[in-house]
Amino acid sequence: MSDRIYLQRCIACHAEFDLDKRLYVCSHCDGLLDIDRREEIAIDTASLSELWRTRKSSLDARDRSGVWRFREFLPFADDVEVVSLGEGNTPLYDAPRSADYCRLPQLELKHQGCNPTGSFKDTGMTVAVTQARQLGAHFVACASTGNTAASLAAYAARADLPCAIIVPGGQVSHAKLAQALDYGAKVLEIEGNFDVCMNVIRELSEDGSVYLVNSINPFRIEGQKTVAFELAEQLEWRVPDHLVMPGGNLGNSSAFGKGFRELLQSGLIDRMPRITVVQAAGAAPFARYYADDSHGAFVNEQHPKTLASAIKIGAPVSWPKALRAVSETGGGVITVTEQEIADAKAVIGRDGIGCEPASATTVAGIRKLVSDGVIKENESVVAVLTGHLLKDTDYVMQYHSNSLVAPDNTPIAGNFANHPIKTSASIDSIKSVLSAS
Ligand SMILES: [Zn+2]
Repeated sequence: MSDRIYLQRCIACHAEFDLDKRLYVCSHCDGLLDIDRREEIAIDTASLSELWRTRKSSLDARDRSGVWRFREFLPFADDVEVVSLGEGNTPLYDAPRSADYCRLPQLELKHQGCNPTGSFKDTGMTVAVTQARQLGAHFVACASTGNTAASLAAYAARADLPCAIIVPGGQVSHAKLAQALDYGAKVLEIEGNFDVCMNVIRELSEDGSVYLVNSINPFRIEGQKTVAFELAEQLEWRVPDHLVMPGGNLGNSSAFGKGFRELLQSGLIDRMPRITVVQAAGAAPFARYYADDSHGAFVNEQHPKTLASAIKIGAPVSWPKALRAVSETGGGVITVTEQEIADAKAVIGRDGIGCEPASATTVAGIRKLVSDGVIKENESVVAVLTGHLLKDTDYVMQYHSNSLVAPDNTPIAGNFANHPIKTSASIDSIKSVLSAS
């Protein structure tokens, strides 16, 4: 049924393709593909939002998933057998210390690192792997800086599908690699960075030997767009003035743009948030493109450099969709330094919220936007944290011991460092440590 309601449409030349056509880009012009409804349907917004709320207390696995709970907006028949790990339903935290750091009265953090494999990728992967099974794929694969690898490995294991991961050798955190290995994926470490991995895997997917589930796959975006639904629901359908997120391969910003656009079209919300993407200064091809008013050709960053490995990407495949999200919402694209990322991460930690370095670009970016007058004190702001603190503990330990060094060999100061304290096992010495300011 779903293949009659939905189709794949090229965002550049608008060519249309059936849903069961195994494509990653348009076969006419290589443009990115969107999944769209063939025609708008009338939606009773009040009863739909009530239905979604009631599902939270259901025992059905689809109802308990923060993605499949919103399945009226997903391109599948109602009886599809989903591959789920209970993803989504992530917390929206009030973060007073982070707000204070940004000179705002209030700041909320949507923590996508609280997904089953510890990153936002799971909300897209449950849908992409469900589609892989629908298509009868025999092998699923992705290129990854680590989080996609961990997520795909887990969902492929749930679906009992063989899975291959291509990662840049020596550039993925131990925690992420450990996840992929434990979930039984074939992990291929190759020489070169993420962009080299991406080129190889796209070639491999062209002859159909593997089903590619990187975010160029429009089914990934369908899953990730539901985070906009969940966030709007958590805010009682009041949209924040600003939504700020990290930018790497740019699938996440593309998905938030699509999610909020669909909510607006269906009347569930009355406006869109301004979407701002924050990149690390050493891996910022999208920020450079956006700042150039002529909007000529997109120039990749040949040697992306940042310790925030999740966004160390020089050739982001989803940039045209991310550009659409930023432009149509009146948002922006900015950069932050390695020092700003490290400090913001430690400040987020003081709120009792643990994220990986890439996620902290958001709070660093918001501080900058407030100081530049782009975000006003009376405006509501939500930052999206994309990965969990435990994804990269080496970085954290180095920051707190003042030994973190940026890729250009500049030392990063531990401005909010919290050193471990060595003390003898005597009550007096412990008391004297505890009483010190
Ligand atoms: Zn096209």
